Amino acid sequence: MTRIAFIGLGIMGSPMAVHLHRAGNAVVGFNRTPAKAQPLVAAGGTAAGSIAEAVADADVVAVMVPDTPDVVEVLTGDDGVLAHARPGTLVIDFSTIRPDVTADLAMRATAAGLRMLDAPVSGGQAGAQNATLSIMVGGAAEDVQAAMAVLGAVGRTIVHVGPAGAGQTVKAANQLIVAGHIALLAEAVIFLEAYGVDTAAAVEVLGGGLAGSAVLNQKARKMLDRSFEPGFRIDLHHKDLGILATAAREAGVVTPLGAAVGQLMAAARAGGDGALDHSGLLRTIERLSGRAT
Ligand code: NAP
Repeated sequence: MTRIAFIGLGIMGSPMAVHLHRAGNAVVGFNRTPAKAQPLVAAGGTAAGSIAEAVADADVVAVMVPDTPDVVEVLTGDDGVLAHARPGTLVIDFSTIRPDVTADLAMRATAAGLRMLDAPVSGGQAGAQNATLSIMVGGAAEDVQAAMAVLGAVGRTIVHVGPAGAGQTVKAANQLIVAGHIALLAEAVIFLEAYGVDTAAAVEVLGGGLAGSAVLNQKARKMLDRSFEPGFRIDLHHKDLGILATAAREAGVVTPLGAAVGQLMAAARAGGDGALDHSGLLRTIERLSGRAT
């Protein structure tokens, strides 16, 4: 039985921790807001009162928190993982954060006697609930091998993409592609509505052709129903497009469509929609089209 500390029990972390417990591991969860450990405890896992307590006996530490400063705090804070985990512990960061900071954190973990992988995920809330996430893994091959049972309990497509930080680089590309799809789907829906087309019928036929996509399958209905409970928050996608913009600039490449959708995502957030699912980008397109009610 592997002892797993799971830090960050939000929309994604909570179902992932429950899957890991059901796969036969001993899971101890910690979340800043303690009530969010409830689903894990109800499934038979344990809640810890601090990160130090959660990681003290762990073989594996999983982290799933929102942003780069959160991961830095969880790993390097006084109460953090590097200060309190046992030597040799495998740290798997599932969060989506900056690739350059990830590479630095991996070096600091190694210096503290730990092993670290970046393992950001794609597949959304549904992927976490169904344990069908796509996981892009950066780090040493032997550590990826050691993590396979844990990764396999929460994901279906697991690919080692390179050294520390490479998983986050691939995830930034993932977020560029998803954001572009969401924006174009939102534009298509507003366009169709303007012509009074039966949008449900339109989405059905579009889904069967070249325009079909996982984004269309998961997000079109939310747009048609104006049902924007997250899911994946606009605040988080805004963060990810910032990560992409910085990394692309450092590499000296341009992402013109990424820049455009980054501005739309920023407008959605500035307009008060940051806590909505990213399909709520539709509201920004609707406002820009003068069709908001
Ligand atoms: P979320 O619902 O906001 O969950 C994050 C959790 O981390 C919250 O419960 C938060 O606690 C906790 N947390 C934050 N800082 C902490 C700290 N210092 N110590 C302990 N717990 C802390 O976010 P999410 O949607 O699960 O996303 C998590 C990560 O997965 C992000 O990097 C996101 O980009 C990525 N991701 C999300 C999705 C998706 O569809 N949602 C898909 C793929 C990847 P509080 O309750 O106190 O705020």
